[in-house]
Amino acid sequence: MTDVALDLPELRRRSFLTGAALLAAMPIASEATLAQAKMASQSLGVLPPDAVIINANENPLGPCKAACEAITAILPYGGRYDRLGELDALTKQYAAMHGLKPENVAFYAGSSEPLHYTTLAFTSPERGLVMADPSYESAAMAAKISKAPVHKIPLTGSYAHDLERMVAADPQAGLIYIVNPNNPTGTVTPREQILWALEHKPAGSMLLVDEAYIHLSDEQSVLDQVVAGKELIVLRTFSKIYGMAGIRCGVAIARPDLLEKLMPYYQNAMPVTALAAARASLSDSELVPTRKAWIAKSRLETLAWLKAAGFKPIGESQSNCFMIDTGRPAKTVIAALQKEHVYIGRVWPVWPNAVRISVGSPEDMARFRTAFKKVMDAPQVALSTRNDEGVGSRTARFLS
Ligand code: PLP
Repeated sequence: MTDVALDLPELRRRSFLTGAALLAAMPIASEATLAQAKMASQSLGVLPPDAVIINANENPLGPCKAACEAITAILPYGGRYDRLGELDALTKQYAAMHGLKPENVAFYAGSSEPLHYTTLAFTSPERGLVMADPSYESAAMAAKISKAPVHKIPLTGSYAHDLERMVAADPQAGLIYIVNPNNPTGTVTPREQILWALEHKPAGSMLLVDEAYIHLSDEQSVLDQVVAGKELIVLRTFSKIYGMAGIRCGVAIARPDLLEKLMPYYQNAMPVTALAAARASLSDSELVPTRKAWIAKSRLETLAWLKAAGFKPIGESQSNCFMIDTGRPAKTVIAALQKEHVYIGRVWPVWPNAVRISVGSPEDMARFRTAFKKVMDAPQVALSTRNDEGVGSRTARFLS
């Protein structure tokens, strides 16, 4: 039997793929694909065995013990779809934990999916996307597909989203995207300011609050606004504090009439392993406080060392990533660290001298400190003109 390769341009030429289906048949930008697209000349799959991987805001702790056991237990049932009703059970468990109704909760294989679909659903050439700069790029990439204007508003002096400016940026805004805590800075936007934006956003626009990192911070969630029936969509993921990035589970939380708007774009069965692992993770009441403290310790120790050594971290991260102003082209620092087998995050064009560091284990951060000092103490090297953007990646081609 010959496998038929999926040829998107060919599919697009065919007339049966129209409207929402056409828009959805495009790559979804996730932290994994973005990190990989920016790796210099090698893919994540072939990193050396001693690599320190702090480039994609992953959690070095991985899934908790209960999640691993739940995956093992459900594997024999993996030959069938969700025969055991895992999705239903997870939906009810999640809703009950947050005072929501099950119809407020929709699970996906990671929150990149509902982020992409929300952008496609609420933006168009006439209805723009408003976001912070720097912030997580995925929505802007989806807006390329819907051909929506993108308004990038600089962060404030305290590196919060500038919600007054964001709300005023486009009277025709289709979507206002808030990431709290923000990726890449890890800095938070106070909840009261998000509530203000919810009340003052332009008529007909949607507020999307991405709480991928909320458990790592002291900031309060806005999920209660969904309970109150307000016009917003909240995203959460099991990729960060729950350590399930490779297992894939995310959730969109909103009024049912809003969640329905995402449905034309894509609906697929959830992997039963992800559902079982998510349920087990939620049942572990120690997980969030223990991991929050573990990651905060590693972050604070690294930030204290950086400051003491005269380096310049940007803002006060409350997350599993932070940025450093290196005072030189960040690409050169990334490439030099890579030679030390330390893989850090990508560059945001608005801050070409800043690097993003994901918080790894204490051992990872010790290796990072040694390598970073060595790189920063060495004479600066000129930027190579070679294309080092990971040209092998399908997403890289789409992004360029
Ligand atoms: N939103 C933000 C702000 C992120 O940083 C990420 C990943 O890093 C995601 C959403 C998507 O995560 P996932 O698709 O793994 O749930």
